[in-house]
Amino acid sequence: MVQDRHLDRRLTMVRRQIEGRGVRDPRVLDAMRTVPRHRFVSRTLSGDAYKDHPLPIGSGQTISQPYIVALMAEAAAIEPDNRVLEVGTGSGYGAAVLAELAASVVSVERHRKLANSAAQVLAELGYDNATVVCADGSQGHLPGAPYDAVVVTAAAPSVPSALIDQLVDGGRMVIPVGPATFSQNLTLVRREGDETTTERFCPVRFVPLVEES
Ligand code: SAH
Repeated sequence: MVQDRHLDRRLTMVRRQIEGRGVRDPRVLDAMRTVPRHRFVSRTLSGDAYKDHPLPIGSGQTISQPYIVALMAEAAAIEPDNRVLEVGTGSGYGAAVLAELAASVVSVERHRKLANSAAQVLAELGYDNATVVCADGSQGHLPGAPYDAVVVTAAAPSVPSALIDQLVDGGRMVIPVGPATFSQNLTLVRREGDETTTERFCPVRFVPLVEES
């Protein structure tokens, strides 16, 4: 019964917050209908899991608003055979959505506690194609490179060049770019050979990408 309540809320979330705002990619919509977002927040917040805003997940971090997760996944244009890097695992929810869309996902998180709990929930839900690595993701994750798509879920003042270097030719990166203290622009970076094109498409507000090196 509880499961049905979450499913109802999830389907309403997709209809109103995601389709209602113009996300059209059927695979992204299916992924958002499938991933049990309530499993990625604390039990006390699970009743709020399908609401139209971010939620605290501990260590001073947040799980992103559902619409923004869907918008970023759509912009990254992920194909079923793709290898994807996520920087900023947080709760692991975004990694699960990406794991529904891609062949494999490597997700990097600097907070050990968040990395461990995200890895546990992803394993419990059977996302065998998602791997969580505890490290500074601003440098990407060389052992899994190159990636067809990179999704960065923390705000960077500029696009880290290490992440561009780890994209395949034709690869896409979605990243919030702008000052940490204010709002940023979701930015789509496309790599074509040694050239990149960038396109800003939505104002957002993310926690900062912490660069340790
Ligand atoms: N995608 C997440 C939301 C993440 S919030 C979700 O679905 O829940 C951003 C995360 O990026 C935070 O957990 C933060 O600790 C992490 N982060 C910030 N800087 C980082 C870095 N340099 N490397 C790895 N993770 C980083």
